[in-house]
Amino acid sequence: MPEITWELFEKQVAECALCPLCRNIRNKVPGQGDRNAPLMLIGEGPGQTEDEQGLAFVGAAGQLLTRMLEAIRLPRERVYICNIVKCRPPNNRVPLPEEAAACRIHLRMQAWLVRPKVIVLLGSTAAKNVLDPEIRITRERGKWTERKGVWMMPTYHPSALLRDPGKKREAWEDMKSLRAKLQELGLYQDIYQAQG
Ligand code: URA
Repeated sequence: MPEITWELFEKQVAECALCPLCRNIRNKVPGQGDRNAPLMLIGEGPGQTEDEQGLAFVGAAGQLLTRMLEAIRLPRERVYICNIVKCRPPNNRVPLPEEAAACRIHLRMQAWLVRPKVIVLLGSTAAKNVLDPEIRITRERGKWTERKGVWMMPTYHPSALLRDPGKKREAWEDMKSLRAKLQELGLYQDIYQAQG
């Protein structure tokens, strides 16, 4: 067994053809951010802007996500951000279960390398693939689950907030809950200690 390293992860994603999504993309979008971050955010899959730039959450939804993090004083570069699938599905459709399943080895390796203490699942696809295939995001958002010492919470996907601003109030509750969890676990002390 080769040692699991970021170099191996990058090579594995770059060479991956485990599902057909890679046939019609410009760039793979492995994910980016602080590789030692205590907080990992997982979305669904790259959209057009992400596909063009090879970076996760850089389009309109990504800009909103940046503002949501800033609202709880987290600079975006202090978290790690990635997606369930690393290749853009055609027309931004939801990844098929077999595409998500094929891509799981990449996400697993990524989570193993980052070793986050807290994971936020952005939207139904992330919540279904990581937490429970039957999950209903409207019902389960904001609820915390601990798995093997990692705290996980599903919340609305920022694209859903752009489509339906009425969901922003609940999303803000979830962000406050995230901030409280990070404080409770003593994470990001340099950011939160001063404020209490
Ligand atoms: N939506 C996602 O789920 N991920 C991205 O990277 C961008 C938009």
